[in-house]
Amino acid sequence: MKRDRRAKILATLGPASSSAETIGALFEAGADVFRLNFSHGSHADHHARFELIRAIERSAGRPIGVLADLQGPKLRVGTFADGPVRLSEGEAFRLDLERGRPGDASRVAMPHPEIFAALEADTDLLLDDGRIRLRVERCGPDFADTRVIAGGPLSDRKGVNVPGVVLPLSALTEKDRADLDFALSLGVDWVALSFVQRAEDIAEIKAIVQDRAGVVAKLEKPAAIGSLDAIVAAADAIMVARGDLGVEMPPEEVPAIQKRIVRACRKAGKPVVVATQMLESMVNAPVPTRAEASDVATAIYDGADAVMLSAESASGKFPLEAVRIMDRIIARTEADPAYREAIEASRSAPQQARADAIGAAVRTVASLLPVAATIAYTSSGYSALRLARERPQAPVLGMTPRVETARRLALAWGVHAVTINEVTTVAEMSELACNTARFEGFGRAGDSIVIAAGMPFGASGTTNLLRIAQID
Ligand code: PGA
Ligand code: MN
Repeated sequence: MKRDRRAKILATLGPASSSAETIGALFEAGADVFRLNFSHGSHADHHARFELIRAIERSAGRPIGVLADLQGPKLRVGTFADGPVRLSEGEAFRLDLERGRPGDASRVAMPHPEIFAALEADTDLLLDDGRIRLRVERCGPDFADTRVIAGGPLSDRKGVNVPGVVLPLSALTEKDRADLDFALSLGVDWVALSFVQRAEDIAEIKAIVQDRAGVVAKLEKPAAIGSLDAIVAAADAIMVARGDLGVEMPPEEVPAIQKRIVRACRKAGKPVVVATQMLESMVNAPVPTRAEASDVATAIYDGADAVMLSAESASGKFPLEAVRIMDRIIARTEADPAYREAIEASRSAPQQARADAIGAAVRTVASLLPVAATIAYTSSGYSALRLARERPQAPVLGMTPRVETARRLALAWGVHAVTINEVTTVAEMSELACNTARFEGFGRAGDSIVIAAGMPFGASGTTNLLRIAQID
């Protein structure tokens, strides 16, 4: 089974997509990676979905990626005594640490002591996805007296964003640590860290993960954009988390930042996912708006590795339709001659490393000769990612003896990953590449393929070989 497109689809699972039938149908329709969102649901829910995905993988015979998304240090207010209150512009409202005291129209708890230390007069706090804006007038170690700048109803446990301030918080809360342990025990392929603020946040989670999964940095704080290059270098992949990013900064800033992040990731050769509200109206409607179709296409023209569905597939009324239309928009966009032009124009020069020299050479061969497929024989996945970084016009196959690698590559642009048996000689590897290309439907007898590999086989980071082979 092969997809007719290069960019990948990441679909979030939730109440609307928890049955074997639905998850199987989402995969058939085009979902390449599934997101388990640890901001919602119990471990039992995630466990059940994880097992269903692995069962679908077994019956489809194709690697499927699973990404565990950790909630991160999402700040929330406490609860209210008598249901929602209404805050009106110009009124005073106090936030404090009195967790045990239910809130009212004059105050509510915000049980995060570290935050009060980082606040100062004139800091703005955004509540409920930015619907309410409070400006700090006076604050101390356990309170903040604020003025309501933009009012509205406020109910229990709504989120709080503090834009532009680097908060003295670990990127991993107690809940995240427990969720991470659990996700790693399941054997997920990727873990995503929310509200990353600095490169050290990535180092902190990587010390725990120990390469049992790839680490995705979710960029959703303006402060993170200030250390963009360091974060991209530290992470294994990046998510442009436009939901929270769009709360923390004005909406007109988001498109330019999205494009800047995608460029930085393509330069570094790290997979980048564009996420949130891509087909938002499909939560309630079976077709997207024109603007949404155009938004998905924009991410594709920019060369993003993957686009993501959130509520559309997790809790909306039309999860399957959302994946289907996303699949069609991607395929149609990639068929536009202007897509190729855009991809060529936005490619960065290869870096001075063997894998890049080989990757660039493979792309050049594939542009000079009629090549049915480009193939990376890869153990860690690195050679396949460096080849994908070149965005070659011919299909990319990632052949790997490690199923973990094949699953991780499900997120990477263009890579059709296949697990194969370990080889020992170049002749064996060549023959296996030809057979795999034919078997997977990428070429027929007489077609040429071009292969990147590293000798000795099985050691990672050894890319040093390019071979042109003919399928017989
Ligand atoms: P979330 O992250 O869906 O976990 O909040 C994505 C975003 O903020 O865009
Ligand atoms: Mn978010």
